[in-house]
Amino acid sequence: MRLALVEAGRAVRGGDVPVGAVVLSPDGTTVLAAGHNEREATGDPTAHAEVLALRRAAAALGEWRLTGCTLVVTLEPCTMCAGALVQSRVDRVVYGARDEKAGAAGSLWDVVRDRRLNHRPEVVEGVLADESARLLTDFFRTR
Ligand SMILES: [Zn+2]
Repeated sequence: MRLALVEAGRAVRGGDVPVGAVVLSPDGTTVLAAGHNEREATGDPTAHAEVLALRRAAAALGEWRLTGCTLVVTLEPCTMCAGALVQSRVDRVVYGARDEKAGAAGSLWDVVRDRRLNHRPEVVEGVLADESARLLTDFFRTR
């Protein structure tokens, strides 16, 4: 989560909301990929931290299935990212702050644990939540 927070800080330089993500290898010892929001920087509406980190992890493994991997993200995933997490077959999602307005991993929706889907990653929330949320409130305060 510390690495994801560092990654989140990088988003601000491009004018993006500070959210960062990393993907850990199945044994948990290696960071396969990282990503931060790049929507403003790239003009890509899907350039959320989680999607970018998942794409890079898949490229690193040469395989779209990220079975066994863990995605760590500073903010609760949105519906798009929750869908991408299910599609990628990650085993675990760890997030920091809850997103009460748009969260899709327990707050507004719970897409990642929807029993109608064929893959449901384990969810761990609240890891360094205060630090994750502080990055966001500081960012929006300066806007
Ligand atoms: Zn998202």
